[in-house]
Amino acid sequence: MVQLNSSPEPLSIMGVSVTPFASYQQAVDCVAAGIREHSQKCAVAVNPEKIMRAKRDSVLRSTLKGFEVGICDGIGVAIAARLLYGRRLRRCTGVDLFLELVRVASVEGWSVFLYGASPESNEGARAALLDMYPTLRIAGTQHGYQTDDPSLVARINDSKAELLFVALGSPKQEYWIARNRAALSVPFCMGVGGSFDVLSGKARRAPLFFRRTGTEFLFRLMLQPARLVRQTALPLFMFGVLRSRFRQPAWRSVKIAQAETKSGAHDNAF
Ligand code: UDP
Repeated sequence: MVQLNSSPEPLSIMGVSVTPFASYQQAVDCVAAGIREHSQKCAVAVNPEKIMRAKRDSVLRSTLKGFEVGICDGIGVAIAARLLYGRRLRRCTGVDLFLELVRVASVEGWSVFLYGASPESNEGARAALLDMYPTLRIAGTQHGYQTDDPSLVARINDSKAELLFVALGSPKQEYWIARNRAALSVPFCMGVGGSFDVLSGKARRAPLFFRRTGTEFLFRLMLQPARLVRQTALPLFMFGVLRSRFRQPAWRSVKIAQAETKSGAHDNAF
């Protein structure tokens, strides 16, 4: 992961970089700095599922290394940071950062482009955001089920949006961002998974209890039992973290993890 001056030094969690933001405000400041300096930043929400996938998929692993910001999207990632580094990471979920950035955009006058989800969810998300933030400038929208349309990048650039949110699910959205970022003139781009479905009301957001305890994945599992296969990543991830932690004394574990973060040699973190 590329190190940014305005963001804390990333931690390597099982080979994937996570930016240890102390608050949503710090994450927003980091994005705002990029917009003001016209330096492009791309963000990915990091959770155990993505880390385990990157572990066995070298293309995804190297794709994620190109992202400047990796937010701590899952409680599993926060636990891993505590065990491996003795660091308390503040969770920064993708949907909450997305909403916070949109709120700030409506105040700062930044415009946003919403790409992805079904036509109904995309339109529903647009309407819901305008309802919440009437001054928000939505520069453009595009649902996520058109065949790969080369004119989309030109349309996004022509819209002059400052913030591009891509809701194609993971890892499709991360690949799309990595493939197109060089041609995109937007200063900030972030994958937001199922956030448009939540905003449009197509999907239910986890009740507060699940959000507070970081167990949204359990709620989603109850609603969509088919996600069980994806969720097997969580116990495997925790097993890997514990194995890595107890294989060596804590001081050594922290030193190795720090060295990996500094050198970018993340691949043998397991
Ligand atoms: N999606 C899309 N185009 C595709 C595949 C998926 O726009 O070709 C959208 C889908 O409609 C949904 C989102 O991507 O709105 C994926 O949501 P999910 O909650 O599965 O995200 P993840 O958990 O993978 O981040």
